Amino acid sequence: MDVTLFNTMTRSIEPLVPQNKQDVRMYHCGPTVYDFAHIGNLRAFIINDILRRALEYAGLDVKQVMNITDVDDKMIARAAEEGVSIHTLAREYTNFLLADFKALNILIPHKIPHATEHIGGMIVMIEKLLRDGFAYKASDGIYFEVAKAKNYGALAHLDLYAEIESRIEAVQDKKSPRDFALWKFETPEDGGVAYDASFGRGRPGWHIECSEMARDTLGETIDIHTGGVDLIFPHHTNEIAQSEAVNGKLFARMWVHTEFMMIDGQKMSKSLGNIITLKSIIERGFSPFAFRYFVLGAHYRSKQNFTWEALEGAENALRKLNDHIGEEIGRVDKDCQKRFAEFIANDLDTPRALALAWEVAKNKTISAADKTATLLDFDRVLGLGVSPRLEMTIPLEIRNLSTRREEARKNKDWAKSDKLRDEINSLGWDISDTDKGSKISKLIN
Ligand code: AMP
Ligand code: ZN
Repeated sequence: MDVTLFNTMTRSIEPLVPQNKQDVRMYHCGPTVYDFAHIGNLRAFIINDILRRALEYAGLDVKQVMNITDVDDKMIARAAEEGVSIHTLAREYTNFLLADFKALNILIPHKIPHATEHIGGMIVMIEKLLRDGFAYKASDGIYFEVAKAKNYGALAHLDLYAEIESRIEAVQDKKSPRDFALWKFETPEDGGVAYDASFGRGRPGWHIECSEMARDTLGETIDIHTGGVDLIFPHHTNEIAQSEAVNGKLFARMWVHTEFMMIDGQKMSKSLGNIITLKSIIERGFSPFAFRYFVLGAHYRSKQNFTWEALEGAENALRKLNDHIGEEIGRVDKDCQKRFAEFIANDLDTPRALALAWEVAKNKTISAADKTATLLDFDRVLGLGVSPRLEMTIPLEIRNLSTRREEARKNKDWAKSDKLRDEINSLGWDISDTDKGSKISKLIN
């Protein structure tokens, strides 16, 4: 079965046809690691993961690359604030990001290139753009001359002069406000973050970083390039212009963009100060899997509004779904599997795939063991971690009772602690005390 995806370039749903039959080369724009990822970023990364899993479920071999942007204005400013190098900062926040990936059951991409490890390749690209007349030197850096690019703006479907000129500030000696920086010459504010290049010491612009990392890790033409919708313009538009100018080849065969995570009707973003992190979700007692379930409940091309109530609903739903997973694993229901594969292959229709999981769970004719097998099969794509061991989906109420019991134990109030245990038991849960603290599990009748 073909996997079909909405290609932003053509604005239509198309079958994915990789260049090399079974091999899919996929590149995701990753984060700038100057701070914690917020759950909007994490939505985009969960969708990347679903895409990889969907392709693998369809029998394809995926080579997945996600970059780390570890040199830019924000990195330099934050590193200076904290009195550390950009490398230390990058290491710290990359580790936090990978911990979030692990908690959310996001498969680690096969390669995670860092921009600072690819400066040499970026310089070679810029030299070629200068030689071939696509780039020019201005007082503060090297610019790409947009007028020289073929079909510039095709991805964003922009009315070039009207839209772009209104969105980009003019810089003194740029030939056109549309031209964008490939390289920024060193300034005193850069705190020594600069690299030698034949055209002048400085650092790369953001767009050239991805063009070079994609080329180096996956080749000149990649099959799928993804990111959030905010990257369509200017980032992806400019990646296409540079890469195609240097390589003389199509840069990416398909473009997949995830819509925004919203909060109170606004885009979640660091600049608006309305972000929520996975850490704060966990601190409120939720399982990361509840967040993953919540994300899958909306189609990736729709905006999704985050509320704590919706997260609680997701957690309850996941726990109830998990109740249908038993110890005995039977056979996968073939009809349901076929429908599931179709939903997923149809532009990653996760809401319908989840609804089907519920249909299986509630089905009266499929045996318990076959339900388990079928739901576990679906979970190869959904990645919700469903399992007979329920630790990751302990209801909030039980966790709160457990916290109160821990406090009672600390205060040596054994009567209260026993009473709280009885209450936990009466709700169908068990609690045992280990060296590492108390452990909650479902009471098995
Ligand atoms: P950044 O670190 O801001 O470059 O973002 C990393 C990834 O998260 C990019 O693919 C962005 O498009 C995506 N992203 C940023 N904000 C949101 C949001 N509110 N909802 C969904 N994706 C987002
Ligand atoms: Zn990028």
